[in-house]
Amino acid sequence: MLTDKIAVVTGASRGIGREIAKTLAARGAVVIVNYNGSAARAEEAVKEIEAAGGRAEAVQCNVSEFDKAAELMDYVVKKYGRVDILVNNAGITRDNLIMKMSEEDFDAVINTNLKGAFNCIKHVSRQMLKQRAGRIINISSVSGVAGNAGQANYSASKAGVIGLTKTVAREMASRGITCNAVAPGFIVTEMTDVLSDGVKEAVIGNIPMKRFGQTADVANAVAFLASEEAGYITGQVLCIDGGMCM
Ligand code: NAP
Repeated sequence: MLTDKIAVVTGASRGIGREIAKTLAARGAVVIVNYNGSAARAEEAVKEIEAAGGRAEAVQCNVSEFDKAAELMDYVVKKYGRVDILVNNAGITRDNLIMKMSEEDFDAVINTNLKGAFNCIKHVSRQMLKQRAGRIINISSVSGVAGNAGQANYSASKAGVIGLTKTVAREMASRGITCNAVAPGFIVTEMTDVLSDGVKEAVIGNIPMKRFGQTADVANAVAFLASEEAGYITGQVLCIDGGMCM
């Protein structure tokens, strides 16, 4: 159980982030449902959590902005007194072959997926070190583990998240703080809905389990890594991909 733990989940208005927020709340955590543009959907996530008897609050913040991420963490610490769990889930894609990829699309993906995670960890680190306790879980991707044609920006950001994870794990281990990454394969969300049927079929051909994953498959693993039981696990990358990357 995560009774009364204070959890921040970035990009929790929909998809995997929303499911993580719901799962942590169902286990007793108070969840900060962060979003950037989708206020209505974040409020909807909060209502779903409350309807199930959980506690949550929606807070807007563009995590790619260094100062805004600081404001988010300051707000949570001021209001709740601590941050026990940080899940860096906010992420975007701007796919294209590298030959055609614009500088703007490269920067946008790095700034949200990698710098956003850095910003949130950086601004929560002082509080977690003071607490001598904390759980940081970063959402990487199989694209960051194995690479993926058409995703130079996204793969680089998600591989960067793995390096960030291992370094933070080393820096903070002695203070009781763990930092791990999960690397989902293809999960049914709006991010993968845009793929054509042909691409989906080709992808499924490479998944030993012959199906896409569900958001709950990721959320359950994140909830475990956030728990007391996972206290001796740090610096790891857990692929949740139906066997694709083994
Ligand atoms: P999604 O449905 O597109 O949701 C993305 C979430 O991130 C939204 O809540 C969005 O909020 C938020 N977000 C985007 N930019 C943000 C920013 N600058 N600041 C704060 N929040 C921001 O994506 P998903 O499929 O659930 O993916 C969630 C995470 O899992 C991402 O990191 C993604 O890379 C990773 N992942 C997904 C898959 C997959 O198959 N779906 C596979 C591997 C990894 P707003 O709408 O408010 O902007």
